[in-house]
Amino acid sequence: MTTYIVLLGPPGVGKGTQAKILSEKTGLAHISSGDLFRENLKNQTELGKLAQTYMTKGELVPDDVTIAMIRDRLSRPDCKEGAILDGFPRTPAQADALETMLKDFNGHVDVVPFVTADANVLIERLGGRWTCRANGHIFNEKSNPPKNEKVCDFDGSELYQRDDDKEETVKRRIEVYFDQTSPLISYYRDHGKLVEIDGTQSIDQVTQDLLTAVKK
Ligand code: AMP
Repeated sequence: MTTYIVLLGPPGVGKGTQAKILSEKTGLAHISSGDLFRENLKNQTELGKLAQTYMTKGELVPDDVTIAMIRDRLSRPDCKEGAILDGFPRTPAQADALETMLKDFNGHVDVVPFVTADANVLIERLGGRWTCRANGHIFNEKSNPPKNEKVCDFDGSELYQRDDDKEETVKRRIEVYFDQTSPLISYYRDHGKLVEIDGTQSIDQVTQDLLTAVKK
């Protein structure tokens, strides 16, 4: 049996943080489309260079290349039991493509936790976000500070502020989310898969709610 979980929600709501915790607790692979693009960028692949032109503006990378990247990632052995998808799908075309590709892996989207918060909370969180270079662990200078400034608690690597966490780009990313990604809320609700979770709660409480949603 496979389990595929799609974490839905705006940028900055805590999907990345929660996906990592959920992955540890369930043993399912964590697939973050943003992390995959950033890895490609670090390695200066053609995909990374292409993605960068969109990412720096806060726009979405075109569907065809994004879908191909996720298909490739889902076909790796660590996704045999399923996966937690964080940041994908982000458009209705990506959601359709996901359904089609999961059939090839004998699965389907099981549950879609939708983590919510108001735009002002997101802007504040993204502005104070620090990300670990080695593994993408996420901290926040106010709500979840690292033990030592600019050092990851988990792997000791350097923490940095993402270029696209700058205020102007953040505003565009949130707009893009409302324009292009929010239609997925009704798409998954209509399919009976959506479970709404309040993303302004403590990290622990959000994790508890997610585990409850996933176990159902
Ligand atoms: P994230 O780390 O999820 O905030 O993603 C960072 C950036 O990567 C986004 O602003 C997009 O430019 C790009 N990106 C990530 N996931 C997708 C996706 N599913 N479709 C298109 N672009 C994406």
